Amino acid sequence: MTLTESAPPKAERWTAQWKELYAEVVTTGLCTGCAGCVVTCPHDVIGYEHSEGKYLPFHLEEELGLDNCIHGEKGCTTCTRACPRFRAWEPAADMHLFGRVREPEEMGGIWRALYLTRASDDMVHKIGQDGGLVSAMLIWLMEHDYIEAAMVSGVEPDDAWKAKPVLARNTAEVLATAGSRYTYCANPLALRDAKEQGLSRLALVGMGCQTSSPPTMWDRKAGKVSKPFLFNIGLLCSKTFDDAIFPELFEAKYGLKKADMVKMNIKGVFQIWMKDGSFHEIDLKECHKWTREGCKNCPDFSAEHADVSTGGIGEDNDWTLTIVRTELGEEVINRMIADGSIIARPAQDDKEAMRLLRLLSIVSRRRWPEFADRAPSVGVPPPKKKADAPAPAPAAP
Ligand SMILES: Cc1cc2nc3c(=O)[nH]c(=O)nc-3n(C[C@H](O)[C@H](O)[C@H](O)COP(=O)(O)OP(=O)(O)OC[C@H]3O[C@@H](n4cnc5c(N)ncnc54)[C@H](O)[C@@H]3O)c2cc1C
Ligand code: SF4
Ligand code: SF4
Repeated sequence: MTLTESAPPKAERWTAQWKELYAEVVTTGLCTGCAGCVVTCPHDVIGYEHSEGKYLPFHLEEELGLDNCIHGEKGCTTCTRACPRFRAWEPAADMHLFGRVREPEEMGGIWRALYLTRASDDMVHKIGQDGGLVSAMLIWLMEHDYIEAAMVSGVEPDDAWKAKPVLARNTAEVLATAGSRYTYCANPLALRDAKEQGLSRLALVGMGCQTSSPPTMWDRKAGKVSKPFLFNIGLLCSKTFDDAIFPELFEAKYGLKKADMVKMNIKGVFQIWMKDGSFHEIDLKECHKWTREGCKNCPDFSAEHADVSTGGIGEDNDWTLTIVRTELGEEVINRMIADGSIIARPAQDDKEAMRLLRLLSIVSRRRWPEFADRAPSVGVPPPKKKADAPAPAPAAP
């Protein structure tokens, strides 16, 4: 055997830049607006508008037109390396985190353990959306020096339901940003504040579209821009809504003013609690019209590339469904259980949560378009055919 025959195949050189990202992701409906490309661009030439109808990256320099990048022409490829929707992103992130790609039947991604958890601290538990696990974990990670701060979603000072990316640096800031807003919030944008403040050991809290970005960039060797992401907490997610749903549906049809809302949740229906103590349920079908554009092709319900993914599909609102995926996630959850920071019980006992996890993961995967890399569609069962309509009743004699 010659030397050439026995040498391992050379990895193909990665040359894709903004030009390819724009053509294959930004303009094709695959872009989720996660802001991964924006915060990692080493030349700061990708802008982002964090507002209704936008949530998309755009190129700030116009020399080569908005669809090309002069730094890309000179060899910069960071944005496509960081994009969790560019080409074969799912196998890339899987391989990096787990050393294998998911099996066809693993609709909710790869995991090591499944729990229902809640914060032991009553205040954290009460403030949290479900069991308060995410907030308890962020506080614990800071106290045990795993991280210095976390990229989370806060709200505008004059609007308690207008989400904005913020950096939480201590317990008070974690608690002030707990709970769920169902409009989009590109939490990775808080990386800029962290850089300005000299903080470089960070956790990212985000939906799957955001938490798939760090492992994708690690796998594609994006370099030092990927170093600050040390811990990844995923939020299960079917969709987010445009901000216009507040005035156009909740207020116009049901008289529910945004300023008077105290909590919302989605449990098969949109649930809204008001300051006056009233509680309202709105059919999700009515809300579909306000689905954010960037969510319409998203295949990832279960935040499949986080260290720990969290959701509220358990039997009751008091527990967080906790999907432990990585070795690091397992270490942290086990230590939190052992020192009493959280209470945990096996999630498999909650059959309905298990059924929903699989079903909703399948529903999201079915949205992935055929023109894109096929990996997210592998193993997805086709929708069941509707039962034949009953034969029409015989005509009256
Ligand atoms: C847009 C969205 C859709 C979701 N959809 C589902 C679903 O369909 N099924 C399901 O089971 N679970 C869903 N979840 C997850 C669920 O609502 C809880 O976030 C999860 O169970 C964790 O609960 P907790 O009490 O442990 O978290 P908490 O301790 O309350 O912490 C929640 C964390 O989420 C962050 N956050 C809040 N809103 C946003 C936002 N808009 N964007 C980014 N980060 C945010 C907060 O800053 C905080 O760090 C969704 C969450 C969001 C944000
Ligand atoms: S999906 Fe995220 S990383 Fe990819 S182009 Fe859109 S904003 Fe950028
Ligand atoms: S459905 Fe959720 S995870 Fe998917 S793009 Fe929308 S916000 Fe992101």
